[in-house]
Amino acid sequence: MFKRLCVIGVGFMGGSFALAFRESFPNCEILGIDINPYAIDKAIQLGVIDKGSVQMNNLLLFKPDLIMLATPVGTFESIAKELSSLDLKDSLITDLGSVKGRLVYMLEEYLGENFVGGHPIAGTEKSGVENSNKDLFKGKRCILTPTQRTSPKALEKIKNMWVSLGALVEEMDPFLHDYVFGAVSHLPHAVAFALIDAIKNLSKDSVDLFKYPGGGFKDFTRIAGSDPIMWRDIFLENRENVLKAIEAFEMSLKNLKELIKSGNLQELTDYLLSAKNCREKIN
Ligand code: NAD
Repeated sequence: MFKRLCVIGVGFMGGSFALAFRESFPNCEILGIDINPYAIDKAIQLGVIDKGSVQMNNLLLFKPDLIMLATPVGTFESIAKELSSLDLKDSLITDLGSVKGRLVYMLEEYLGENFVGGHPIAGTEKSGVENSNKDLFKGKRCILTPTQRTSPKALEKIKNMWVSLGALVEEMDPFLHDYVFGAVSHLPHAVAFALIDAIKNLSKDSVDLFKYPGGGFKDFTRIAGSDPIMWRDIFLENRENVLKAIEAFEMSLKNLKELIKSGNLQELTDYLLSAKNCREKIN
């Protein structure tokens, strides 16, 4: 079905996608585009891509039938602008960015009906092509965010492509996507970064609190090891939903603080039990 794939952004996600794609479409040739020549060299060395370039206009010669945008979301607009100046009317274009909403409509403005927004709900705190994992998407959800403008044919092809990589495809409105993942993904990352900041501020000259990490602290803060540029872009691109989610969290934390302050055994137990019951429903 696909003969030539171009991945723009040959990092952890782009690399994982290229590896998974190659497994499903073994005869496909893969071109990687990245601003970082080291990432391209590494990706070729690891067999993730067949060839690479730091120049976007190399796409013209390559004539990809699929382009995957896998850079931090803050770069999407300038990349889309560049892509729109090339003649790519025969290419399907999709992305795996963590924010959709406004970005999807902006990308459509530049790229037209052959663009289909996507977000695989798979990943880790690691970045860089050297951490790529060919099995990353197997059994994981992949949210597609078509709009009224999206070509039904393009959507069908992108859907089938993700299914062949082992993902469980679900469609969602682009703005609903940002509300949902602002709460269940972006907020936990914000809290993890803030928790590390709080522990840094609670450390004193006489004691470095980071010397005593328990299992809970390590589990809870693993995601604070994620790439700062990627998360800066996500927080800013989904600013409204992230701020609302942080406010809801501040309220919950304030309630917990009041219960601890008042020492009301029953109410404090109820609060904790309710949270425990909700958590246990997640598999
Ligand atoms: P990464 O840092 O591992 O890789 C990003 C790559 O993009 C790097 O190689 C970088 O050099 C390149 N790049 C940056 N700006 C560029 C530009 N203007 N042109 C070309 N290349 C450029 O990051 P990642 O974890 O692979 O994340 C990539 C995307 O995937 C982001 O949009 C992120 O929101 C999304 N995503 C990440 C995860 C995750 O868990 N890491 C999960 C789902 C979605």
